[in-house]
Amino acid sequence: MIDKDLKIYDCVCTGCSACTEACAFPDDNGINPVQLIKNENGLAVPRINSNTCTECMMCYKACPTEDKIFNNDITYDKYEQKIGESYFGYSLDEEHRFEAATAGVATEIAAYLLETKKIDGVVSSYQNDNNEIITKIFTDIGEIKKTRGSIYRQVSLLNGLVEKIEKGNYKKLLLIGLPCHIAGLKTLHKTNKYLKKNVEFITIALFCKQTKTEEFSDFERAILKAKANQKIDYRGKGWPGVTRIEGGDSLPFNNIKIGLSWSTFAFTPEYCFACSDPLGVEADISIGDAWLPKYTNQDKIGSSLFVANSEVAKQIITEIKTDKILFIENESKENIINSQSKIHIKYKTSNIEYRSNIFGNIGNSGKAEFRYKLLTKITYFNKKFIELLYLSKLMIYIPDFFLKVYRKALVTVWKLL
Ligand SMILES: Cc1cc2nc3c(=O)[nH]c(=O)nc-3n(C[C@H](O)[C@H](O)[C@H](O)COP(=O)(O)OP(=O)(O)OC[C@H]3O[C@@H](n4cnc5c(N)ncnc54)[C@H](O)[C@@H]3O)c2cc1C
Ligand code: SF4
Ligand code: SF4
Ligand code: SF4
Repeated sequence: MIDKDLKIYDCVCTGCSACTEACAFPDDNGINPVQLIKNENGLAVPRINSNTCTECMMCYKACPTEDKIFNNDITYDKYEQKIGESYFGYSLDEEHRFEAATAGVATEIAAYLLETKKIDGVVSSYQNDNNEIITKIFTDIGEIKKTRGSIYRQVSLLNGLVEKIEKGNYKKLLLIGLPCHIAGLKTLHKTNKYLKKNVEFITIALFCKQTKTEEFSDFERAILKAKANQKIDYRGKGWPGVTRIEGGDSLPFNNIKIGLSWSTFAFTPEYCFACSDPLGVEADISIGDAWLPKYTNQDKIGSSLFVANSEVAKQIITEIKTDKILFIENESKENIINSQSKIHIKYKTSNIEYRSNIFGNIGNSGKAEFRYKLLTKITYFNKKFIELLYLSKLMIYIPDFFLKVYRKALVTVWKLL
């Protein structure tokens, strides 16, 4: 986050790069005063060169954190109202459905929009064989398949975007990203004159309650006996899928040793605790896993829940259903919420100020109910404790049975509070 005094708060910065894209005051060498760097925690954050900065405040205006993604005014009831037309579905191409993160819905929609020329490019990301995260504007339908899967690392999706758009003279783009990327794109679009005048966006958000720091991948490499910095594929190969090293070991995604890190928020960056859009309702379409017993008990290939939050989105979904690209059935809003656990959605959409203070220590702790304060503190200490178990590699040797009991206890605490 960048505040009105151009002060940067690393703990609530998602590394989206909207601020660096908004800055249009390069120095004599063509270098903008604000640049993304990696901080001591290995996370991308901006730094401003005060010698060349003109204090135009565009970076501040483009930063989405203050009132968009970290929305202090949001309440659960208001949030629920924002959830659009809801669906269950999957790609009708079985091989594609099997290889994708969940059911291939995101990349099928991207390919359809390109093929029908409703867009001239797709802003998206993938990991290359050298473990680098590549962000790119895709124009080739075949190449979109490269982006299938989930990246459980920080992605600076907007970095370099304006230059790529200007060079390619793109007019209508689809952007696929996390809710924090969509928030950054929206504030950047309002701030950047070129984008505002020349480019329209359709957006797809993935449901998201947390991403992971690089330490998470390091732990996975340790269990999978991989080399340092070797690429990991986190999802795909059925559902909920397999975490694997190309040509090497693999683990089911719902393996408890990986799963516990999700339940305990171990290796979750601090900024995710301030985020208030777990279902990506600010995007045209949002997509997630169908974590509901009626699907999890039977499906081994992939099932998605997705939401059309705008009229454009509803039109796209209707066309895709008619063209038999996706299998689509209507689903209830209630099931969308329950699939992500209602208590988590409630938690994410209340008392953001309080959470930001506990996790990021950014100032005023704000008012919060006693139960909420207790839950936040328990979550914080539990996260730190579990991270210690992972970092010391003790986690590798703890029998799965104990970890399952631990997770059950944790879920009970969440439910009680
Ligand atoms: C960090 C993260 C957290 C998530 N949390 C949840 C959750 O709590 N609950 C839930 O139901 N679903 C969650 N998802 C979404 C889910 O894992 C699938 O991504 C989603 O269902 C889409 O599946 P698909 O088969 O349609 O996607 P595919 O057709 O396989 O396409 C995947 C698309 O996602 C993009 N992508 C992958 N990772 C990232 C990333 N880190 N940043 C930006 N773009 C990315 C790819 O570039 C590609 O465009 C999360 C995904 C991520 C990346
Ligand atoms: S205040 Fe203006 S010139 Fe300075 S870094 Fe931000 S956008 Fe660039
Ligand atoms: S715009 Fe994005 S990268 Fe820049 S400070 Fe805000 S959250 Fe961080
Ligand atoms: S929870 Fe997801 S969308 Fe929100 S800030 Fe974290 S990574 Fe971004």
